[in-house]
Amino acid sequence: MLTILAAGTTASLFAQTAQPAADQTVTTTATAAVKSATKPNGAIMPIPTRSAMLRGAYGPFRANNDLLYYHLDIRVDPEKQVISGKNTIRFRMLKDGTRIQLDLRETLAIDKILWNATPLKYERDTSAVFVDFPRTLRAGEIVSIDFYYSGHPDEYGRFGDITFKKDAAGHPWINTACEGDGASMWWPNKDQWRDEVENMDISVAIPSGLVDVSNGKFVGKTDLGDGHTRWDWHVSYPINSYDVSLNIGSYVHFADKLGDLPLDFYALPEDLDKAKVQFAQAKGMLEAYQHYFGPYPFAKDGYKLIEAPYSGMEHQSAVTYGNLFKNGYMGRDWTGVGISTRFDFIIIHESGHEWFGNSITAADPSDMWIHEGWTTYLEGLYVEYRWGKDDAIKYLNGLKPKVENLRPIVDESGVNAEPTEDQYFKGALMINTLRSVINDDAKWWPLLHNFYQHFKYQNIMTGDVVTYFNQQTGMNLTPIFDQYLRHARIPRLELLFGEAPGMVMYKWNADEDNFAMPVRVGAPSDWQIIHPTTEWQWMQTPLTKDQFQVATDLYYVDVNKQ
Ligand SMILES: [Zn+2]
Repeated sequence: MLTILAAGTTASLFAQTAQPAADQTVTTTATAAVKSATKPNGAIMPIPTRSAMLRGAYGPFRANNDLLYYHLDIRVDPEKQVISGKNTIRFRMLKDGTRIQLDLRETLAIDKILWNATPLKYERDTSAVFVDFPRTLRAGEIVSIDFYYSGHPDEYGRFGDITFKKDAAGHPWINTACEGDGASMWWPNKDQWRDEVENMDISVAIPSGLVDVSNGKFVGKTDLGDGHTRWDWHVSYPINSYDVSLNIGSYVHFADKLGDLPLDFYALPEDLDKAKVQFAQAKGMLEAYQHYFGPYPFAKDGYKLIEAPYSGMEHQSAVTYGNLFKNGYMGRDWTGVGISTRFDFIIIHESGHEWFGNSITAADPSDMWIHEGWTTYLEGLYVEYRWGKDDAIKYLNGLKPKVENLRPIVDESGVNAEPTEDQYFKGALMINTLRSVINDDAKWWPLLHNFYQHFKYQNIMTGDVVTYFNQQTGMNLTPIFDQYLRHARIPRLELLFGEAPGMVMYKWNADEDNFAMPVRVGAPSDWQIIHPTTEWQWMQTPLTKDQFQVATDLYYVDVNKQ
């Protein structure tokens, strides 16, 4: 997954870590917001461009239809670096109308758009394509159009959206990773997050001798007799447009199984031996996540792990991998506490998105913490499954130096926003805090499992998460979610000693008026749970100010002792 790297906000993070985290990228495209404005709370927020608004808004010409199916059927020319072909787009009208909105980057040509044999008129406005029908389409009517396009897709962003590279042996190596900028950077589609097709076919014609690995189940390959071979893939589940992926290269394949689930691995020939060792971690990853959340979401499509020339991306059922076949992140201890080096960060993180990001999807990028906060928390669950709770808590607390607390995690909706990187680390620390608030693992594990099962294959917003947690726990967790997600600051526990011997006063300092959260205080060997609100309360303690502690590894809070 991608995160915008707004100038001056996250640069310090990456100055320390040398490279952005997995699936995070510097976005500098025309579709990204480039201006900024100061919000009332002093945070710098981007001002969306017209292009970003057209891409981000779920406007009337998107809302009047419901996607059913795509067949992306293209030819890729590695030498000319050109794509040509069509996307067949099938949708059901939800309202009467004569116009729909699709998306395709301006630099790519629209050759024609056909409705059966009828050419359709269209208007382009930045990357939006408004398609007009010669008669009113009725609500409930199912319509299929063929959108023909061609051209050279320019590279943008750190991962390039689509790149035409060569491998070390000089063979073409063409890959996509386009989450932030969008799939319309290289193919025409309804490029937003709220609506997904129910299933999809992907057909890619490439020079014979090369391999294309895309999403879904491999259907077959056909020699076209003109020096090209078409590779056909079928996706049996809803899929985000940005998850649709090409991986074209001199790949070699090896396979395994986890129960009935096919595991397929693709690496360049020179990396095959390393891949056979490193990719073996996929099984343990799947076992861990299946333990917590239930079966792998895309069983009919299988699980694939594919070498790519960038760090990694969660392409649905076709996770891409570029972590140097080393543990940690690019060989480094990602959270700096000696645990990341036990496993391959990219395999564990990107594959976690199969549950959170691909199966459960945010309906707007504004709420992308549903992908990234949860998947970062899943890293902690993987650690817990393998090495126990103490190491998981240690691992998650290693994320703290990465949090900036300068902007709220949930961003503006409807403008294709790229939330702050805090969505990863602070999101995970918030979920870890919720576990401590619930304070009963016998409830926590079913809650996580049922939360995933309740929302799987759906596109949801933060409010859906909060409502579910409130309903299932019988607690009012709204102020806690809102404080962590909708404000820049974390709550600060104010502790005032010395009013009287053996007494400490306490309250929360938070932006949410009704903020109330239990927290463990006192001595680690004998924590006491107190229930601070934003009003002063007091308790007796035999501990001195120096001895009195707060369980800040279990609750992501600031503490102010006076
Ligand atoms: Zn991610």
